[in-house]
Amino acid sequence: MQRRYANRNPKSLAFYNETLKHMPGANTRTVLHALPFPLTISHGQSTTLFSVDGHSYIDFLSEYSAGIYGHSNATIKAAIVKALDGGWNFGGKNQYEGELAKILVERFGNGMDMIRFCNSGTEANLMAIGAAIGFTGKQKILAFIGGYHGGPLSFPEASPKYSMNAKYDFILAPYNDIKATKAILSGLPPDSLAAILVEGMQGAGGSIPGQLDFLHYLRMAATDYEALFILDEVMTSRLAYRGLQSTLGISPDITTLGKWIGGGMGIGAFGGRREIMEMFDPRNGKLTHSGTFNNNVVTMAAGIAGCKIMDEDTVEKLNALGERLRNFIDTSIEKLLGAAATPKMYTTGLGSLFNITFAGPEKDVLHAVFYHYLLEHGIYIATRGFITMNIEHTEEHVETFGKVIEGFLAEYRDALV
Ligand code: PMP
Repeated sequence: MQRRYANRNPKSLAFYNETLKHMPGANTRTVLHALPFPLTISHGQSTTLFSVDGHSYIDFLSEYSAGIYGHSNATIKAAIVKALDGGWNFGGKNQYEGELAKILVERFGNGMDMIRFCNSGTEANLMAIGAAIGFTGKQKILAFIGGYHGGPLSFPEASPKYSMNAKYDFILAPYNDIKATKAILSGLPPDSLAAILVEGMQGAGGSIPGQLDFLHYLRMAATDYEALFILDEVMTSRLAYRGLQSTLGISPDITTLGKWIGGGMGIGAFGGRREIMEMFDPRNGKLTHSGTFNNNVVTMAAGIAGCKIMDEDTVEKLNALGERLRNFIDTSIEKLLGAAATPKMYTTGLGSLFNITFAGPEKDVLHAVFYHYLLEHGIYIATRGFITMNIEHTEEHVETFGKVIEGFLAEYRDALV
């Protein structure tokens, strides 16, 4: 398999070897590494990615959910080009940031009265935690095993040998486990909890939806402990027009956003109740918030154009298409493998975000085999089996993917039952 891959992608291999000289792992983003080497992408158009080797792929990763618009969206491109005519970063307030803030506050207004921008979802969560500590005067942050809120805020199931996490006073509880979480909270010293930080669906943790009663319990517990409830919607904000919080019926104290809200440009945002956010008001607030590119014109203009594209109808259609694909995959798995009590291949997720996951002792090999099988059949997803839909996907793309899955199941049936 490795030789065939190398023969099929000689230019990607050459790019990889050349980049290795100057970048560890030839990479500037760990998650983009793939064995034996990652493809080098030359360009993207609509929902197709092209590699330097001249192959094309239907993009079912959509930039880990940030690429909700597909590639080279003409409306966003026009907004960026128009904005660029006036220069792109002023070291001063611009005309764009207020408009994007208004759009987002009106959209996620359930608990979000005001908002601030930064450059990534990671930064948004760091700022949200800082705000919670500043607001409550307390230190402890309850987060969850399997949770991911950015590189220095990650809590994988199997902890890495050396954690580069920010040195906040984290306590960890198991996700979707009310009883265990309750026990951990009741063991805390009084007046110590500053915030509960949680995803409504664990994304990097494997697209694991949070149970409704668990998330409602956390919201209530935050109030009881006079702590802030921070809902990380960096990924899940696409799952309903007003974010997953609207589906859950939960009003967070602080919401963090990122990914698609910048029209595909780098962005993060954190917003919350007025009394919390006013701590950042330079006229009388006690917290500062800096960042050279926080209001950069390219991102702000692209974000405005992008958020307008993602109207209610578009959001719903996108999620429905994701569900159709996932149902098709589930049905194919059941048809070809039977309904096993502990399946070796299964899906989890919500709407336009989901995972195809392998289980059992061979799971890592199966993930690698599946990833390469899809590439050979012209489909691009994350090595970990993560799939996110974009608005350029059609029924036809879904059908093509479905047929490839059926082919994979038939070919690897023996390893999967
Ligand atoms: N929170 C969640 C839930 C995420 O999925 C991610 C990114 N995958 C982040 C935070 C970090 O966002 P960024 O990569 O923009 O720093």
